[in-house]
Amino acid sequence: MSKTEVRLRQPIVVVLGHVDHGKTTLLDKIRGTAVVKKEPGEMTQEVGASFVPSSVIEKVAQPLKGIIPVKLEIPGLLFIDTPGHELFSNLRRRGGSVADIAILVVDITEGFQKQTIESIEILKDKKVPFLVAANKIDRIPGWRPIENETFTKSFRSQSQSVQKALDNYVYKLVMQLAEMGFNAERFDRVRDFTRYVSIVPVSGKTGEGLPELLALLAGLTQQYLKTRLRAVEGPAKGVILEVKEEQGLGHTIDVIIYDGILRKSDTIVLGGINGVIVTKIRNILLPAPLQDMRMTRSGYRSIDEISAAAGVKISAPGLEEALAGSPLYVANDEAKLQEARKLIEEELSKVRFSKNSTGIV
Ligand code: GDP
Repeated sequence: MSKTEVRLRQPIVVVLGHVDHGKTTLLDKIRGTAVVKKEPGEMTQEVGASFVPSSVIEKVAQPLKGIIPVKLEIPGLLFIDTPGHELFSNLRRRGGSVADIAILVVDITEGFQKQTIESIEILKDKKVPFLVAANKIDRIPGWRPIENETFTKSFRSQSQSVQKALDNYVYKLVMQLAEMGFNAERFDRVRDFTRYVSIVPVSGKTGEGLPELLALLAGLTQQYLKTRLRAVEGPAKGVILEVKEEQGLGHTIDVIIYDGILRKSDTIVLGGINGVIVTKIRNILLPAPLQDMRMTRSGYRSIDEISAAAGVKISAPGLEEALAGSPLYVANDEAKLQEARKLIEEELSKVRFSKNSTGIV
C-alpha cells in the first residue's frame, strides 16, 4: 500500500476547561452545526460521542481556503459528549489516553483558572496535544458579532480598539501558558505547530471562530498524528464510558472504540467489580435515526459491525458488574483471551475503583 492509500480513522476529541467557561455551549454549537450541515443520510449521533463528518468540516471551513488547507484525509472528528476532566480520566489506554487531541476552553475575559491549570497538567502527563479555544469573544466590550463567521473575517470587521482588546487578552493567555512551560500564539501567527500551542478565539454563543477551530483540529491531527490514526482491521479495543441499565436491554455498557473493528459475533473481555468479565456480545447498538424512533422501543438500532473510532452501546449477558473506565478487548481465541485477561488484571490492580461501580475514583 502506498503512503497515500493509508486509511485514517477519526480522531477522538475531548473538551476540558474551568466550570462556566463554555465547554457545554461550544460542544452544543459544534453538534448543532454537524446536524445542520451534514449530507442527507450521514449520521452524527453516536453513543456518548458526536461525529462531525469531513463533509461538514469542509463546508464550514470553505471560506478559509488558502489560510488553512481543508483537504481532509480523516473521515471526520469524533467528539466525546461529556466535557470535563472526570470523564477524561476514565479514557485511559495503555501508555496514555484514548483522546487524540483536546480543546482547552477558557473564558477569554477571565483567563486560566484553577481547573484549567489542572487540565493542562493532566494533558501534559498523558501527552495529549491540545488547542486553546479562547471563548466568549462576543463579550469583549464593543464586539459586533457576525453569526457563524470565521474569526479571521469577523476580527477584521471590528474596531481597532476591540481588536487591540482581544489581542491583549490573547497575550495574557500566552503569558499564563509560558508560566506552565508552553510556547503559545494566536493560531494565525503560529509557524511551527509542533512547538507552539494554538490559541483560537471563538464564541460558542455566536459560532464565530468555529470554522478555524474545526479546520485546525482536523488539519493538525491528520498531519501530525498519522501513525496513531492509521485505521487497523484487527480486533477492537475500547474503553467503557458508562454502565447503564436500559429498559428492555438489561445492563449495557457505553464504549468508545479507539482501535480495530467490533463485530456482533465477538467475545469481549472487560473489567468488573469482582474481576475480569468474559462475555459474548448480544447487540451492538447505535441511536436510531429519528424516523425509526417509534419502531424501536429502546431508541437504538442494532448493527453488525463498526470500525474505530466510534461510540456504541453494547448489550451482553453478565454486564451488571462492569466498571466504567475499564478497558475492553475483543478476544475470539484462547491466546487472545489470556492476553486480554492479563492486561485487564494489570489495569484493575493499578487503579482504585469506587464501590458503587460507577467509575474510578
Ligand atoms: P461549562 O460549565 O464550561 O460547560 O459552561 P457552559 O457552556 O455551561 O457556559 C456557562 C455560561 O456561559 C452559560 O450561561 C453560557 O450561556 C455562557 N456562555 C458560554 N459560551 C459563551 C459565549 O461564547 N459567549 C457568551 N456571551 N456566553 C457564553
